Amino acid sequence: MNDDDRWMSRAVELARRSPRSSAAFAVGAVIVGADGAEIASGWSRDVDPLVHAEESALLRARGDLTGATLYSSLEPCSKRASRPEATCASLIIAAGISRVVIAWHEPDVFVTCEGVALLTAAGVDVVEMPEFAERARAVNSHLLPARTTPRSTRRAWPR
Ligand SMILES: [Zn+2]
Repeated sequence: MNDDDRWMSRAVELARRSPRSSAAFAVGAVIVGADGAEIASGWSRDVDPLVHAEESALLRARGDLTGATLYSSLEPCSKRASRPEATCASLIIAAGISRVVIAWHEPDVFVTCEGVALLTAAGVDVVEMPEFAERARAVNSHLLPARTTPRSTRRAWPR
């Protein structure tokens, strides 16, 4: 297991601790320093009913975050109903985090998320690990519309 796998597994596990909400996703986040050690972690609504996972981890992080990587089970938000001035994408950029690894792009359930675009425009390296998306989605199934295309069905087109 490489480091990205290890830390993303931890972020996805942390998401499961989030109190469930009908108005927000359950997300986990971990900040890892350039030396490979964990600096801080957080999950949705862990310290108050509105806090986001990335925001919570950043609030706990101390010291220089230059060169740090933030792992999040969901794309960091670019718009939020609560605290519109403190989106996770802007907090990450302000903290000087240089790399963000996500498992899942935010679906358009509450807002259209442009977190990845904002981070990339600010010079942050963004990596997606789609192999973790199913696990990141699983804790949020109550918020998601039922899939219309069964994944298990193989499609075939006539030649
Ligand atoms: Zn957020």
